[in-house]
Amino acid sequence: MNKFFNSLRCLICGKEYSPDKAQYICPDHNHDGTLDVNYNYDIIKKKIERKSLEKNPDCSMWRYKPLLPIDAALNLSLLRVGWTPLYNSIRLSDKLNLKSVWIKNEGQQPTGSLKDRASALAIYKAHEIKANVIATASTGNAGAALSGLCASANQKNIIFLPKSAPAAKIAQLQVYGSTIILVNGSYDDAFNLCRSACELYGWYNRNTGYNPYMTEGKKTVAHEICEQLNWNVPDIIIVSVGDGCIIGAVHKGLKDLLALGWINKMPRLIGVQAAGSNYLSQAWENDEDLQTKPPIKANTIADSISAGLPRDRFKAMNAVKNTNGIFVTVTDEEILSAIPELARNSGVFAEPAGAASFAGLKKCVEKNIITSDESVVIINTGNGLKDIKSTQQAIDKIKSNAHKIYPDIRELKNLEKFLPN
Ligand SMILES: *Cc1c(COP(=O)(O)O)cnc(C)c1O
Ligand SMILES: [Zn+2]
Repeated sequence: MNKFFNSLRCLICGKEYSPDKAQYICPDHNHDGTLDVNYNYDIIKKKIERKSLEKNPDCSMWRYKPLLPIDAALNLSLLRVGWTPLYNSIRLSDKLNLKSVWIKNEGQQPTGSLKDRASALAIYKAHEIKANVIATASTGNAGAALSGLCASANQKNIIFLPKSAPAAKIAQLQVYGSTIILVNGSYDDAFNLCRSACELYGWYNRNTGYNPYMTEGKKTVAHEICEQLNWNVPDIIIVSVGDGCIIGAVHKGLKDLLALGWINKMPRLIGVQAAGSNYLSQAWENDEDLQTKPPIKANTIADSISAGLPRDRFKAMNAVKNTNGIFVTVTDEEILSAIPELARNSGVFAEPAGAASFAGLKKCVEKNIITSDESVVIINTGNGLKDIKSTQQAIDKIKSNAHKIYPDIRELKNLEKFLPN
């Protein structure tokens, strides 16, 4: 056990637990008592400094190991996770008239989404307690991440996902050899079934919003953004929100860096939800109580942010409220249009939930929520190749740039007005 890691604190009642007393949630609130991992930053400060970090050749999320709740001496051999590129898009900042627009491309993670950061941490935690099997529910990406990383670690695992998950995501799971349970129901159904199964069989539960350590893995994306910007934090970070784990984790990573004195301000966090899966955005707008607000029926093309009851809603709401941020919603139409627009202006090809952050940025600019003197980071959370059906739909909505001809130069000549020169 990492000696810098102190306690787990319930987000509802504030009760603190030592890590050997509470594994997942505060037992006083049925399944809702999400726990937050507390650190002793004074001790961490003695272990890691900005200067020493900058010289660390480890280009992965493990460069922030002193800020993670794991045994610093343990090194599992996993696919390399983290240190994804942060691109400065001058074209997009010109187009949107903003000081700067940066794109953190998590599509370049080993299994193609930001979920790799959480699944990697889950494997470390499962290893600590010598769990035989790790299980998760997933809309696709969390499963693929667990599946691929477990394949690299030779770790048994089982994935529950709604049978409506995109074909490429289901194929990705199958190729890695995980046991896959396709549930005839929603992600929320798969989540509840997975949780019951973990209790029944004693599997290690990686579920988002239930396992407190998933936030800790994902927060490294915020550490990286700040380090890549040479600790000059942006004014705004925009991230799409389903369960709310990612936005909560971005907040946590920034809080770590503020506590260490490595950054000097907290950016505003903007959460983007799909109009058809807007539980948190509704709750934020109407100031609703997250403990009593019932689940909604989620329906969006952006499968990765389709969640009727966001499992990490407490952390997500804190992230927005405590940073003076907002939630915005975007329609499926806007999400689909954002896919080619982002790709054509930056080269970054996002799945619908990843492009949602760009759609959210455009909406904020339209509504003057972001002003021209502000710098913005958007996170592309997942690779476009994960959902070809939606990509095709996005392309069908715009003027096609594919021309069918016979292999004859005269036919090509007939198309001259379409050829670049
Ligand atoms: C999981 C996921 C999200 C949303 O993250 P939450 O923690 O559920 O809010 C967004 N985009 C992609 C690609 C994802 O896989
Ligand atoms: Zn509690």
